[in-house]
Parts: sequence; structure tokens; C-alpha cells
Amino acid sequence: MKNLIYLCSLLFLVSACKSEEKKPDLATDVKTTFESSPKADFAIVIHGGAGTILKKNMSDEMEAAYKAVLENAIRTGYEILNAGGTSLDAVTKTINVMEDSPLFNAGKGAVFTNDETNELDASIMDGESLNAGASAGTTTVKNPIDLARAVMDNSPHVMLSGPGAETFAEEQGLELVEPAYFYTEHRMEALQRIKESEKVELDHDDKTAFYDPIIKNSKFGTVGCAALDKNGNLAAGTSTGGMTNKRWGRIGDAPIIGSGTYANNATCAVSSTGWGEYFIRAQVAHDISAMMEYKNVSLAEASKEVIHNKMGKLGGTGGIVAVDKNGNIAMEFNTEGMYRATMNDKGELIIKIYKD
Ligand code: ASP
Repeated sequence: MKNLIYLCSLLFLVSACKSEEKKPDLATDVKTTFESSPKADFAIVIHGGAGTILKKNMSDEMEAAYKAVLENAIRTGYEILNAGGTSLDAVTKTINVMEDSPLFNAGKGAVFTNDETNELDASIMDGESLNAGASAGTTTVKNPIDLARAVMDNSPHVMLSGPGAETFAEEQGLELVEPAYFYTEHRMEALQRIKESEKVELDHDDKTAFYDPIIKNSKFGTVGCAALDKNGNLAAGTSTGGMTNKRWGRIGDAPIIGSGTYANNATCAVSSTGWGEYFIRAQVAHDISAMMEYKNVSLAEASKEVIHNKMGKLGGTGGIVAVDKNGNIAMEFNTEGMYRATMNDKGELIIKIYKD
């Protein structure tokens, strides 16, 4: 009897301690993860950038236009995967659709640098071989994700930049365009607005003062895709014009493997979007994969932890889309909105922009 009383009190103490254990507040009020049970045959998820995207600032026509491109893009990848194509092909072709639209900050719709040029970055990674390719600062390659893919497939390197990358693109027979191809009125106006608002004296020791006007006025719009194919291979890719008003040859996270893009068949495939400097410092894409690998946590848990606690607490803003080896999806962000869409192997489509 004595022993029984002792055991009961012990159990009571343990459960009381457990309920007092403070769990980190990772949850957002948004449904950001979609579990696939049982394991999906294939899966795909895309983003078209994260930032201060508010319904009150968006006309119905604009919203419909964004959703139409997102749908066209994700259906392109879905068809490839459904027909048994590779996740690498799905990622590349899906991103091409968004690169060719002036709405997104990638390819045709790339933002302007301080010098009123367009410098584009992209990367892609194969989760099966852990091979990767990236290009940075190109000005004449129509679809930078194709260049990243060619770097991965046909060069001994992982990242090429500037004129050298363009020579390689030409040798690979990729489509080149005049820099003027990337000119869009709305991106030029955005640059001019930022320049006008740059009232702060540039104090080069105070990076925050320098970046404030850029960040407040920036409309992010990088594009990215993560996919799982029928053979269980994961891939991810990201393409961007970077940040409006960037200067000094600034390169963001998008072409950096581990920051903007990461894929590993053992864990997940991730594409990032947001304030690149923070995504580089937090190694966002790889960190999500590493948490899953080393701590054995779910994609949902790893994404929330990295976006809200690790990157977010440094002061960064943005989000990720990701798919794990079982086809579970994460679309996690700490901004007002993120253009995003996902489609499962049953053809069920979700397209979202705001926090709802
Ligand atoms: N991450 C990109 C960069 O910093 C920008 C974006 O995602 O909108 O270049």
C-alpha cells in the first residue's frame, strides 16, 4: 500500500512538472503546413516572394493576375511530376513560368539596382546527388534558373558570376536577351521612390540606417519551388532580381546553397525568400534540413523554429516553402504575406497570398 501511495505521488509530481514545462511559442495564426498521410507519390510547392503584402493594397485584378501566374506555374510542375518526370525538371520549368511574368521579381520582372541595371541570381539543388548549381549578377540571361541548372549539370563548379557566367550561358546555348528586356515601368518607379526616400545620410558603419529605406519600400517577389518526384527524389530552386536599389555588386541569399536553396533526399527541399542578408547569416534552408537530420524533428517544426526563432530573432523577415521526403509541405513566413501555392498528388490546389 505504502509503495502504491509513493508511486502515485511520484506520477503526480512528474505530470505536474510536465504541464509547467514552457514550450517555445512557435505557432503562428496561419495554416502553414500540410501533412501528407500516407506518404505522397509526389508533391510540389512554390512561392512568389514574401513581404508587406496586404489585401487593402491589392486590387481584385492584381490579385487575380498573381493567382493566375501561380496556378499556371504550379500546374506546369504538377504535370511533369504526374507524368513521372524528375523533381529537377519540375522545379526548373515551374520557375521558368514565374521568371517570364513581369509580376515577380525574377527574370522579366527583376528589380533595379541603384545603377538602374538588373542583376539576377538563381540556384538549384538535387536532393539525390547533393549536386548544386548557381549563378549571380547576370544581366543578359533570360532565365537564370536554366543557367543554374546548366552550371550544375555541365560544369565542374557550383557558382558562376557576372560576365563569366554569361559566357558560360552562351556556350551552353541558353537564351540571351538585351538588358533592356528586364525593364519594367513598375520596377523603375519603385527604384525612384526608394531613391527619393533615401534621406538618411549614408553612415557606412550603421548598416541599419543604410538598409532601412530599402527594406521599407521593397516589394519582395523572388520565386522558388520545391518538389518531390515519384522516384522519391527531392529538388529545390530559387530565382530573383535581388533587392531594389542594391549596389556594389550585392548578392543575396537566393544563389547561395544552404541559404536560399537546399535539397537532400534524407530530409527535405527548401526555397527561401526575404531579406537575404539574414537568410545568409542564419543559413535558413540548410538549417531546416539539419534540424530534421540531427534532431529528428518534423518539417513543420524545423521550419517554424528556423523562420520564427532563429532567422526571425536576428531581425530578418521572409519565408520558405519546403517539401519533405514523405510529401509533407511547409509554407512558413513571418511577414504580412507570401505568394504561395501547393498541389498534392491528387491534384488538390491551394493558392494563398495573405496571412489566412
Ligand atoms: N532574398 C532575396 C534577396 O535578398 C530577395 C527576396 O527574396 O525578395 O536577394
